[in-house]
Amino acid sequence: SQAQVMHQDKMAGFGLLAAGIAHEVGNPLTSISSLLQILEKRNLDEYTRSKLGLIAGQLNRIQGTLRELMNFSRPVNPDRTRFEPKEIVEEALHIAKYYKGIKSRTIESDIAEGLPQLTGIRDQLVQIIFNLVLNAIDATSKGGLIRLEARRIENVVEISIRDNGVGMSAEQQSRLFQPYFTTKKQGTGLGLFISAKMIRAHGGDLSFESTLNQGTIFRITIPTREWEPQSVPPQVLSSSRS
Ligand code: ADP
Repeated sequence: SQAQVMHQDKMAGFGLLAAGIAHEVGNPLTSISSLLQILEKRNLDEYTRSKLGLIAGQLNRIQGTLRELMNFSRPVNPDRTRFEPKEIVEEALHIAKYYKGIKSRTIESDIAEGLPQLTGIRDQLVQIIFNLVLNAIDATSKGGLIRLEARRIENVVEISIRDNGVGMSAEQQSRLFQPYFTTKKQGTGLGLFISAKMIRAHGGDLSFESTLNQGTIFRITIPTREWEPQSVPPQVLSSSRS
């Protein structure tokens, strides 16, 4: 359909943009970083030192954003494959194991038996679930509960990530999927924006419900039918692999 074609164009544009930024901006930033480190070793007056510190902080922020863009625009394996929903949930949890804070949260997972296989970019979906788990960790304090569930609802597999953390106000909720919306010191505000785009490119959807001071649930739904061959333009997935 027309809407689908427009969506694909946007996705392609996004992938190319991300790849372009990664290449063109990444290297000079690395040089600036090392030059700053050299300068910081010198005998500097307080004023200069504090300004250099501010520059380094801002630089860090840009580099964080860039890393996030690259993570999403360069999947390890950009091929569409078939896989079990259980596999991707378990792999996301496996990677999340190394994230600080996870040991002081309770992680539960309940994957229904006999779920149909999914078709898509496996590594992207793993990355998205992983990101949602990290957000849930950030939203909870020690002793928090994070629950992952996968079940079938008619022709869709739903993977949900629920936390009993800080939740979100109506204002926050209305801005959630905007790029660069973040309430975190080190946040980029790109995780949900990119995740939603990727899931839609799989023909699925990302939705949520949240109550302030009670918690949040994110739901990924992915249709179980075969993908139409053109659902995701190859540029999105491979343009950064030069
Ligand atoms: P980032 O994690 O870099 O801030 P995201 O796009 O992943 O970027 O999230 C944007 C914002 O949405 C977060 O800064 C936070 O305010 C809010 N958010 C995301 N997930 C949750 C959650 N599980 N509980 C409460 N707030 C959340």
